[in-house]
Amino acid sequence: MSQVIAIVGRPNVGKSTLFNRLLGRRMAIVHDMPGVTRDRHIATGEWAGKPFTLIDTGGFVPDSRDEMEVAIREQSELAVRQADVLLFLVDAQTGITRHDELIATELRKSRKPVFVVVNKVDDNGRVGDIYEFHKLALGDPIGISAVQGLNIGDLLDRLTASFATGLVPEDPRLKIAIVGRPNVGKSSMVNAFLGENRQIVSPVAGTTRDSVDTEFKYFGHDLILIDTAGLRKKSRVRESIEFFSTVRTQRAMERSDVVIVLADAGEGITDQDLRVVSEAIRLGKGIILAVNKWDLIEKTHKTYREMEADILARLGTNRFVPVMFVSVHEKQRLLKLLDLAIQVQENRRLKISTSKLNEFLLPVIQKTPPPATMGKQIKIKYITQMGTEPPVFGFFTNFPKLIDDAYRRFLERQIRSNYDLSGVPVRMVFKSKNPDADQ
Ligand code: GDP
Ligand code: GDP
Repeated sequence: MSQVIAIVGRPNVGKSTLFNRLLGRRMAIVHDMPGVTRDRHIATGEWAGKPFTLIDTGGFVPDSRDEMEVAIREQSELAVRQADVLLFLVDAQTGITRHDELIATELRKSRKPVFVVVNKVDDNGRVGDIYEFHKLALGDPIGISAVQGLNIGDLLDRLTASFATGLVPEDPRLKIAIVGRPNVGKSSMVNAFLGENRQIVSPVAGTTRDSVDTEFKYFGHDLILIDTAGLRKKSRVRESIEFFSTVRTQRAMERSDVVIVLADAGEGITDQDLRVVSEAIRLGKGIILAVNKWDLIEKTHKTYREMEADILARLGTNRFVPVMFVSVHEKQRLLKLLDLAIQVQENRRLKISTSKLNEFLLPVIQKTPPPATMGKQIKIKYITQMGTEPPVFGFFTNFPKLIDDAYRRFLERQIRSNYDLSGVPVRMVFKSKNPDADQ
């Protein structure tokens, strides 16, 4: 799991400029949330082989002074809860302001590493001004210029100094994340699962502050539920709540094997639901789309058919994601959902031997070869599975770059029609190297 760095600071100190600067080439924006006043961002990237997630908490610009104070306090508090490391951005040209002091007070309470970063030290002309920021009592300030890209490498070195490069140790227990928009029924579902399972082993303190991991036994399987519910809904900065619930959803998904995306039958599948599905696919997780509150829908054959058709249409090329209609209130298909999660994880661990793979795929490819492109005959000589969880298939070909998307999808369909890969994203790589050289 990657560590989270949050950029905190009052308006205009240069948070979004720094965010864009840090993005550099190695980072990809994973989530954009258009805000009322401006956009907010989350990105993932790495520095010196250490993966991290960066969030820009900025943006809230209220009208009045009082509102500003409330907003600043809430933003700082939310950032503190979500981040592992806090990057407190201040402005060399203005010096310490009242709002900086307010943020500093919140951050001092946090007991998390805080880096005071003094921006706008352009051409090092204002390096002398950074010492003033010692007064914030949060350690040695670091001077940078976000606009000029000054000292950015040093900054990243210091921020990530304590981050791990190694992989997280293998855990044989199946980790299931239950994610979804507010009010779809996540907490009700978790309670239903745990209520029916008297054999809860122990509530495991979540490694993140506000998601709770609960371990329980289910017919001989050790399951861990990663629960993203329980979000405080009463905050005044509603936009921030949604933003941070996205960070939390992201982290819960990263830590899981199988993601249950919960949607609301009354509302249908929203764009946001689909974005979460896409992100789970990008992360290579097992995925199930569960449509809750099925009890609210008048059950005729027609409504069911229509709804299913609508969902499949919305899933488009991601139709391998199984859809299950459930009702937490009526305890409808809840155990089936757990069975399906276990099955999806089994599918995700699928390992096909090289001989079996070639035996069935080479004849298919011979019959329907990739279309010749730019006068080139494309040949696929050999296929081998290169990884599991999720399965990765390597195709060795004379022109790897000329295989088009349509043919990729054709190959994927062939594999899926021979093996149960329901709920599992499949990766395919095309290589030119002669595999026999390795044998
Ligand atoms: P945010 O509200 O904290 O996200 O701040 P912005 O990133 O929108 O920046 C506020 C203003 O400060 C903009 O006009 C930026 O161009 C300017 N700014 C940001 N970084 C620097 C810097 O390193 N030097 C100077 N001189 N100006 C900067
Ligand atoms: P969360 O925000 O996703 O954790 O959602 P909650 O579990 O707090 O549920 C939101 C509301 O939906 C509550 O009023 C629940 O009682 C209701 N709810 C949850 N599951 C069902 C269901 O299967 N059917 C109906 N009709 N309501 C449900």
